Amino acid sequence: MKQLLNVARMGNPILRRKAEEVALARIPESEFQDFLDSMILTMHEYEGVGLAAPQVHQSLRVVVLHEEAGIANEGEQPLTVLINPRITVLTKDRSSMWEGCLSVPGLRGKVSRPNRIRLQALDRAGKTIQLELDGFAAIVIQHECDHLDGVLFLDRIENRQELAFEREFERYFRPELETEFEAEGENAAEEEEAS
Ligand code: ZN
Repeated sequence: MKQLLNVARMGNPILRRKAEEVALARIPESEFQDFLDSMILTMHEYEGVGLAAPQVHQSLRVVVLHEEAGIANEGEQPLTVLINPRITVLTKDRSSMWEGCLSVPGLRGKVSRPNRIRLQALDRAGKTIQLELDGFAAIVIQHECDHLDGVLFLDRIENRQELAFEREFERYFRPELETEFEAEGENAAEEEEAS
């Protein structure tokens, strides 16, 4: 049965631990499948774009992604569950995004990450996922996979002047972003996500 899970917040040592690989035999077990559903329910409840298992007190290499985040495979099927994900960085080019995190509530910070990656993982049926991703999808997946290695987005902020409370972010940084993005003709909504 799926249930709402408690979200671990920064300071909880589980967020700083390297999570363990999921044994293949465990994937089809109903207890594990229920856990995946509970993670998805919890992500929706707290309006995250993604959630990693250590954020719900399980030190396992599992990530769930919001089906509306636009992160999909080549067949346009949304990626919702990543088990034992592995990332290979494919470029030196980087993109910056204002990130947030359900485990670091109330804060936004500007993080720069490589903007093209190869992702290998298993889906909830144990089937291999292998694809190349860029832009927003690449950034969200790197944020989530960082959680599996005990890394928080705050660790990756280069300029601490680009760290703000949500209200101040909305007031002082968001209007600037919207102007920049209008100029570039892109979607400003993608610039701020909690995961
Ligand atoms: Zn996070």
